[in-house]
Amino acid sequence: MPEAKPAPRPAAGRGGMKKELPDHFKAYRHVWVAVEMERGIVHPVSFELLGEGRKLADKLGVELAAVVMGPPGEATRHAMAEAFCHGADMAYLVEDDILHDYRNEPYTRALTDLVNAHKPEILLLGATTLGRDLAGSVATTLKTGLTADCTELDVDDDKSLAATRPTFGGSLLCTIYTLNFRPQMATVRPRVMSMPERVERPVGKVVEVKLDLKEESIITKILDFIPDAQSHKANLAYADVVVAGGMGLGALENMQLVKNLAAALGAEYGCSRPVVQKGWMPAERQVGQTGKTIRPKLYIAAGISGAIQHRVGVEGADLIVAINTDPSAPIFDFAHVGLVTDAVRFLPALTEAFKRRLSPHNRDKLAS
Ligand code: FAD
Repeated sequence: MPEAKPAPRPAAGRGGMKKELPDHFKAYRHVWVAVEMERGIVHPVSFELLGEGRKLADKLGVELAAVVMGPPGEATRHAMAEAFCHGADMAYLVEDDILHDYRNEPYTRALTDLVNAHKPEILLLGATTLGRDLAGSVATTLKTGLTADCTELDVDDDKSLAATRPTFGGSLLCTIYTLNFRPQMATVRPRVMSMPERVERPVGKVVEVKLDLKEESIITKILDFIPDAQSHKANLAYADVVVAGGMGLGALENMQLVKNLAAALGAEYGCSRPVVQKGWMPAERQVGQTGKTIRPKLYIAAGISGAIQHRVGVEGADLIVAINTDPSAPIFDFAHVGLVTDAVRFLPALTEAFKRRLSPHNRDKLAS
């Protein structure tokens, strides 16, 4: 099971925490990423994990494998081809009609059988709704450690996976090791890791694996699929521009100022956690450790202090513009552009300026 690493870690065999890795785990090698596919669409977090897995595999001098599970057909094959274009050396392919829609039982069975047969040392999954469900049941079935919602992955000198994640409400970062069990499992939330460059590459080595499971033995049945009517409303995690408001805006009606600026920029809008707690914006708009992690090209934060729990969700942005009345607000420690001013007065002026600048008429004038 996972253990918090003391510093310095006591050496093996000296009565410290680390025991010798049991012999039956010594054959475990290579880094795997479980590619998440739902209704034929690969979740981008899988490619982000392949980028991260590539770095780990290179450090360890091992192969990076994509695990692609789905119904037989073009979508599953396409997902596998894309995994190669995002860094995989090889793929394990499990195609079965049973895997048409995600259900915990057949996916857990497929993945645990694969692990038991081919023995990876590291197994990474996205910390999505599906990935969290699958990772938890795979880890408990395999009786190994799982570090959830990691913000950093590395391998240390003795080649153990160092999985770092926030702890104590985000005020500390903790590096967790799975020293005596294999595989070492971790989940990472979408957008926490950067997207690797896609490079056109042919499909490499593929190991096709049969799933030894019959539909009759699965308790869960899919009767119908009703898409979440709200699910496409907020696409904060993958937006190029995000405007967010915090408690400094002072009132529910001022949230409209954030929405107006977002509309002028063709951006998504978000907020800090207390704004959600106040009921000024819905939870799906929350940015930060317990909300969405974002990596936009531009992030505008208005009336947000920049607490650590907010910072961890936004610091991957290319350009952070902070508007805050307090020059010593923590957000100015990591913002690229800081404006010390009243956001309630400034946002309407900024919105008007952008509207004028981005109007088709002016765009034509600027281009000429
Ligand atoms: P405040 O801290 O109240 O800051 C308001 C800021 O606005 C101040 O800096 C002030 O100077 C400025 N201001 C005031 N008036 C104006 C004005 N007129 N114009 C411009 N600026 C003005 N927070 C998140 O955001 N996301 C999370 O995911 C998250 N997860 C958390 C998880 C845990 C376990 C815990 C314990 C906390 C979490 N928090 C999270 C809360 C976090 O610690 C902060 O409390 C929160 O981010 C503060 O929100 P805020 O900056 O909007 O409000």
